Amino acid sequence: MPKVVIAGAGLVGSLNACFFAKRGWDVEVYEFREDIRTMEHVQGRSINLALSFRGKAALEYVGLKDYITEQGVAMYARMVHEPDGVTTNQQPYGHPGQHIVSINRRHLNEVMITQAEKFPTVKFFFEHKLRDTRIAEGQLIMERLNDKEKIVVTGDLLCGCDGAYSALRRSLMTYPRFNFSQEYIEHGYVELNILPKNNQFAIEPNVFHLWPRGSFCLIALANIDKTFTVTLFAPFNTFEEHLYDDTSVVQFFTKHFPDALQLIGSTELKATFNRVRPSPLVSVKCAPHSFGGRFLLLGDAAHAMVPFFGQGMNCGFEDCLVLSETLDACNNDISKSPRLELYLHKF
Ligand SMILES: Cc1cc2nc3c(=O)[nH]c(=O)nc-3n(C[C@H](O)[C@H](O)[C@H](O)COP(=O)(O)OP(=O)(O)OC[C@H]3O[C@@H](n4cnc5c(N)ncnc54)[C@H](O)[C@@H]3O)c2cc1C
Repeated sequence: MPKVVIAGAGLVGSLNACFFAKRGWDVEVYEFREDIRTMEHVQGRSINLALSFRGKAALEYVGLKDYITEQGVAMYARMVHEPDGVTTNQQPYGHPGQHIVSINRRHLNEVMITQAEKFPTVKFFFEHKLRDTRIAEGQLIMERLNDKEKIVVTGDLLCGCDGAYSALRRSLMTYPRFNFSQEYIEHGYVELNILPKNNQFAIEPNVFHLWPRGSFCLIALANIDKTFTVTLFAPFNTFEEHLYDDTSVVQFFTKHFPDALQLIGSTELKATFNRVRPSPLVSVKCAPHSFGGRFLLLGDAAHAMVPFFGQGMNCGFEDCLVLSETLDACNNDISKSPRLELYLHKF
């Protein structure tokens, strides 16, 4: 049976494991973190994500689409909140019935790990960090974090699903003809919450709430527990010049987002800004995404993008689907794939 090794059990790595298991491959997944299903608090990026058609198509292939979408909140339109704090207008996302889905990141990841584990050919190795790559030998060097033991692993395919700061991509960058660019945009983000009101959603749940204000904006996506995750995106200098203490934060929201301030509450707003610093946003491009018929980059490891498109995860899920179709077309030998031929680099 062919074997794939996947570095990273995030959204894309765990879905990719399901795809390979479905093709009957042996699958080993090495993840730096502990098993998130056993963790009390998972540190990471946005709490909820917008799942769109391309992401759903990939989930459908592994039989998870209906289950996952039922666990989210459908969003049929964008609701734009005007600066007066009263006026809103709605822009439908498509034809009646078409929608994107607000879904909890952690839950989605946990469901996909559990789904992958249902296949007897899949093994997860948590707290194992990809440290190095021996390209010519076709090997990945993992470190078992509890005893610092180095483990050499190999397989017919070796996939880097290890996110925007991918260790596999870093190793490939030392090879000729590998192109890479990385850009931190001037914006950062801070997440806030809107709590339920009388046990109900405080505002309309089935829309994507947007407060556009030129160089900065606020968004809110509903969660099934009737809260909303609210995200402020703004240039770092806006955070530094206008959101630096309790008074300035409340003033800023009173001026630009009066209706959102009412919903979040000034106490929660101040507490959040005292507790967290804005997180940066990085965009990564690289090419090729496949090497020597054996190494592959998928998801953010291949193409991290800013969240304004709402497509990073969706594109990563589509990567898994496209890879699967490519393997079908080339009978599991990517070195024979006309689709990937241009990207082959022999060592
Ligand atoms: C604020 C924000 C909002 C977003 N909203 C959306 C949205 O609405 N819709 C959307 O489609 N996308 C959205 N995205 C993008 C989305 O989060 C990413 O595209 C997605 O998480 C990429 O998944 P991934 O599995 O490739 O990477 P990650 O989710 O980063 O997972 C990588 C995994 O690899 C592990 N890892 C890292 N290094 C190593 C190593 N050396 N060895 C072993 N394991 C390792 C990590 O622990 C992690 O588990 C958003 C991003 C942000 C920041």
